[in-house]
Amino acid sequence: MKKIAIIITFVIMLTGCRGHDMGKKTKIYTSFYALYDLASDISGGMEDIYNMVPAGTEPHDWEPTVQDMAGLSNAETVFYSGTGMESWIDKVQAALGDTKVEFTDVSQGIEKKGNDPHIWLDPQNAKKICRTITDKLSYIDVGNALYYEENYNACVLKLDALDSKYKKAIGSVPQERRKIVVAHEAYGYLCDAYGLEQIAVEGLNGESEPSPSRVEETVNYIKANDIKCIFYEELGSPKVMQTIADETGCKLLPLDPFEGPASDGEEKDYVSVMEQNLENIMTAIGDE
Ligand SMILES: [Zn+2]
Repeated sequence: MKKIAIIITFVIMLTGCRGHDMGKKTKIYTSFYALYDLASDISGGMEDIYNMVPAGTEPHDWEPTVQDMAGLSNAETVFYSGTGMESWIDKVQAALGDTKVEFTDVSQGIEKKGNDPHIWLDPQNAKKICRTITDKLSYIDVGNALYYEENYNACVLKLDALDSKYKKAIGSVPQERRKIVVAHEAYGYLCDAYGLEQIAVEGLNGESEPSPSRVEETVNYIKANDIKCIFYEELGSPKVMQTIADETGCKLLPLDPFEGPASDGEEKDYVSVMEQNLENIMTAIGDE
């Protein structure tokens, strides 16, 4: 019995070393920050995780450089959203076709809503993303599968607690007041999960300056619906939202679609960002 245990331990140690040759960690790439944060939680330091989009850059209109491509070619896998968040994905996949780099679509098992790529903003979807990441890391590094599973379970607890907080807080607000005026149309999944409605000044990708007529429409909407606060994004241009706030006398608060940090070295964590978002949403729609 003892002998078998020793052999099993030895096999686990051997397979555990796969992908960690000579003490080097496996390289995992993520296509933008939300996936970087969730993958880092599951990996728990076992892999080197690289976020492709630099801090301060809006991922919707980012494209990889030649250096990024060189880095990617050393990756064991690339986690990407699979929902059109990465306009560059087909081109890059074709270019890396001959290498062993695998691309892992994290939207598996998630019900898509049209062209909206912001799946991660519903905590229940974040759980599914964590599941896909866990399965992939466990496949790459089978010796640590139990460790990844533990990290996944810890994430599930945190995400379920976050989901309950949202349900409780927003559930206390009458349906007709659950309206949020936002910069880019990032909150479709969040809104559907909690019975909110978003009024977005910009489109799904936050790509272009809104037209004067769209701004005027939003101003009229705010006045007609007695909206107290509107939301801007750190990574977007806050100028338009500032103009609308000035014109309507609304308060301006941040709402973070968790697409990336504003500056280098700033670490963000999904649950804390989502908790801050909830607090700001409640300031906007809750009782004064
Ligand atoms: Zn977005």
